[in-house]
Amino acid sequence: MRRVARVALALALPLLAAACASPQAAGDAAPMSFAQQKPAADDILKRPSDSVAPAVPGSLAGRTIRVSKVSDIRLGAREVVLTFDDGYKDLRDHALPVLKAHDAPFAAFICTGFADRAAPLWWLDLEDVVQRAGDMLEIAMPHGLPVSASLRSTAEKQAALRTLYWRLRALDEPAFRQVIGGLQYRYQIEPTRRLNDLCLEWSELEALVTEPLLTLGAHSMTHPRIGLLPIEDAEREMRVSRDTIAAHLGITPKHFCYPVGDQTAAGAREAEIARRLGYVTALTTRPGVLREGLDMQLLPRISVNGLFQNPSYLRALISGVPFMLR
Ligand SMILES: [Zn+2]
Repeated sequence: MRRVARVALALALPLLAAACASPQAAGDAAPMSFAQQKPAADDILKRPSDSVAPAVPGSLAGRTIRVSKVSDIRLGAREVVLTFDDGYKDLRDHALPVLKAHDAPFAAFICTGFADRAAPLWWLDLEDVVQRAGDMLEIAMPHGLPVSASLRSTAEKQAALRTLYWRLRALDEPAFRQVIGGLQYRYQIEPTRRLNDLCLEWSELEALVTEPLLTLGAHSMTHPRIGLLPIEDAEREMRVSRDTIAAHLGITPKHFCYPVGDQTAAGAREAEIARRLGYVTALTTRPGVLREGLDMQLLPRISVNGLFQNPSYLRALISGVPFMLR
């Protein structure tokens, strides 16, 4: 049965509201976590609040739109699908009460390496790198010049973090993992600290999946850009994450969400793997609404976050108008 949630807006066109790994201070072009994520107490970078759960009903108030389950997507229909990536605690703690209050179905895409405490939230570990680097950041890179930046003020630290983030994103996946591992070793960063703080573990996910509004999805094992992996590794990330979720939670996901989700992370090859593995839908972070004719294994979404979005901005995105101009 389709549910109608009173969280609606004018000019509603179909979309997927997106959420993904969140380099909060790394630049506004990056995908962001949907739900509220409070800065750590020692966060010297003073990133803006990215609380979204309160913003959604506020921005959508007064109208009604159908909130559909990801398993019921109909391309071209006037409805929204709400999705949350990675398996953060803030989904349970902040978004879920709002979703339940509106009887709004939603999908949660779980990265098994986060639940296992085995894959780092590397974009957040970079904040620790900047915090611990003293007045000067000097990091050798496998290709090109080293990252070199002054860290004498908060503004300089934020700029250095953005630079480091995007220089890392420009590397291929093996070089990228090598640099991340080297930084964690050099700056004595314990990846499980962030994971324990932010991500649901399996026992907590067991409790979450009893929520009838939830559709469970897979989001890889290690959160790589799958499009940059050899095909055997890409297939394994998409297959083993599904099977691991099934083994832990007793539910076999039929939906997949590509980590990072941009053009480097998901393309025709990955869509074909998703089809071969039996995923009914697979979601990117390419911006857009759900128009007819789209590839169901390469669907666009709209990232929702509090860094650059206010209620009117969100209303405009959901209208679909910005995507008509592309
Ligand atoms: Zn993600």
